[in-house]
Amino acid sequence: MKIILATHNIHKREELIALAGENLDIEILPDDFPEIPETGNTLDANARMKARFVFDRLHQSALADDTGLEVDALAGAPGVYTARFAGENATYDDNCRKLLSVLKGNSNRRAKFVTVICFIDSGGNEHVFEGEVKGNITEEYRGSSGFGYDPIFEPEEGRGRTFAEMSASEKNSLSHRSRAMAHFLSALPEIAKNGTE
Ligand code: IMP
Repeated sequence: MKIILATHNIHKREELIALAGENLDIEILPDDFPEIPETGNTLDANARMKARFVFDRLHQSALADDTGLEVDALAGAPGVYTARFAGENATYDDNCRKLLSVLKGNSNRRAKFVTVICFIDSGGNEHVFEGEVKGNITEEYRGSSGFGYDPIFEPEEGRGRTFAEMSASEKNSLSHRSRAMAHFLSALPEIAKNGTE
């Protein structure tokens, strides 16, 4: 089954391709494909919007991921604004620094990553899956692997390490994205049975 990944983010691509395994024929967007809008108010709306944008243009099954970091002490923020927490063109570093500074001195470090995946099958039907991982925001950067908030997020099952202190396969064994992908992969036979993959 051919599926096009509705993302220009190379880190997400790498993770999604590894998580999809051998059974799916994953393709990436052409270099000249336009910027994909994500103007929804929820992760669900954004995942659907991104997958639909690609499906409508390439007429091919598409898979999109929208991810948010929800911090307890910030009442669930930045959530859908995770990529833009420190401003419109914020870098990963800007966002991590802002979060560390906002939480400075706060003993409540609890947070979770949530990923919503939208798969649009060849018939144009949307299938949505969610995965999350709970953890804590560290006091400082630790590790250099991964991307985004990985150096400051310590998952509960991480044995004291941040995602950035893990190998790609360790992160993939317990991440929000892997959990959402696991739901998608287990639903695929049923989707295929209905003839609309
Ligand atoms: P979006 O899904 O492209 O809107 O991603 C939102 C932001 O979440 C990204 O810009 C990253 O900063 C962050 N992010 C998404 N996935 C991960 C992850 O697996 N680890 C760390 N940060 C992530």
